[in-house]
Amino acid sequence: MAFVTYSYSAPVSQSLFDRAAAVTPGGVNSPVRAFRGVGGTPRFMVSGSGPYLTDADGREYVDLVCSWGPMILGHAHPEVTDAVRRAVERGTSFGTPVEDEVALAEEIVHRIDPVEQVRLVSSGTEATMSAIRLARGFTGRSKVVKFAGCYHGHVDALLASAGSGVATLGLPDTPGVTGAQAGDTIVLPYNDLDAVREAFAAYPREIACVITEASPGNMGIVPPLPAADGRPSFNQGLKDLCRADGALFISDEVMTGFRAGPRGWYGIDGVTPDLMTFGKVMGGGFPAAAFGGRKDVMDHLAPAGPVYQAGTLSGNPVATAAGLAQLRLLAADDFAAHAVVDAASRQVRQLATEALNKEGVAHTVQTAGSMFSVFFGDFGHAGVTDYAAARRQESFRFTAFFHSMLSQGVYLPPSGFEAWFVSAAHDERALERIADALPAAARAAAEAVPA
Ligand code: PLP
Repeated sequence: MAFVTYSYSAPVSQSLFDRAAAVTPGGVNSPVRAFRGVGGTPRFMVSGSGPYLTDADGREYVDLVCSWGPMILGHAHPEVTDAVRRAVERGTSFGTPVEDEVALAEEIVHRIDPVEQVRLVSSGTEATMSAIRLARGFTGRSKVVKFAGCYHGHVDALLASAGSGVATLGLPDTPGVTGAQAGDTIVLPYNDLDAVREAFAAYPREIACVITEASPGNMGIVPPLPAADGRPSFNQGLKDLCRADGALFISDEVMTGFRAGPRGWYGIDGVTPDLMTFGKVMGGGFPAAAFGGRKDVMDHLAPAGPVYQAGTLSGNPVATAAGLAQLRLLAADDFAAHAVVDAASRQVRQLATEALNKEGVAHTVQTAGSMFSVFFGDFGHAGVTDYAAARRQESFRFTAFFHSMLSQGVYLPPSGFEAWFVSAAHDERALERIADALPAAARAAAEAVPA
């Protein structure tokens, strides 16, 4: 097997980053892209094809970020690209209803049982923000329960103790969010049903909703605890506690939806939420997201009901054409593409574990369907079950591992608090390149020392 080596400097990316820093805060339009968690020069990508990305310095990488989830069929899939091209030629935005919006909504409603009605929006943030407003409008209550380490986009009320970039940058809270905006947010430890029970006891009939990532991926992958010893699973427990108090249970499937499996995390644990949110995969690489659920709740949304929500580009014809094409391709041949994603995920996990074990690097690989991430450190038999444990990971080892992989042409998420993503385009050649890069990266992780 050829061992692919790369010179490590990235002069064109560096000069673009310098230019960007002059006109854009931190040089990026979303914080995690800046490589602050790992240091070094963020790579400016110029093209993507299947499992590969090419940067502005002309180097090719096997992509294990997949645009943070959306590109589940790989980059520039010919049929998705074709659907987009045809949509663009018909006009890019009308500000009127279009048929593809209906078709995309039908695709979601038919595939995800708890979703009886759905509203399309442009980002996952908009989806969770709108779902919370709807839950408050429907229940007439103000408090919201969220879990430490879960990220639901940059919604003011949900930024407290959030995962993703907030975790990477080590920000406890965000200036700009007022006490009033955060005052109704109750942040609880993940996977702790007793804490949720206590919150409902402390604020009876005041909690509008409990929102959780269906299976968290924004503190690394930390799945909900399954049922055991007569206890319900974490998600079932949340659902039961919500129902007993009249609060709504919101499952955020922006990351897991149509990715963890054909029906997202709902298809794996079968717990029925009142509302769900989607994004990423359903947009096929374009800004499309959604929230939906019980019809009697969704009926409260304008113009059917009084809770206002709107968007100039909601249900945009190009975005809906891309999303629809991707969801239909994923469903073809009895969800064959998902089986390929599953197999690629299994293989990368195995390869990473073998390489790290060989170098004696303590780590745990955690999975949620086909999603996974690697935590460096010794987490014992229980693994990582909450944000407090996720924060004990040996980030200095991840940093060394990341840079070694990058220098060998494998593009990992630039933070230990993020999921790794594969696609149906990750074929034998791409997997071989990952396998070739892992031994040196595992050695780098073994030799790493805290900064
Ligand atoms: N919810 C979850 C679970 C997410 O992972 C994300 C983004 O990573 C969001 C919401 C926000 O989505 P967006 O970045 O499209 O606003």
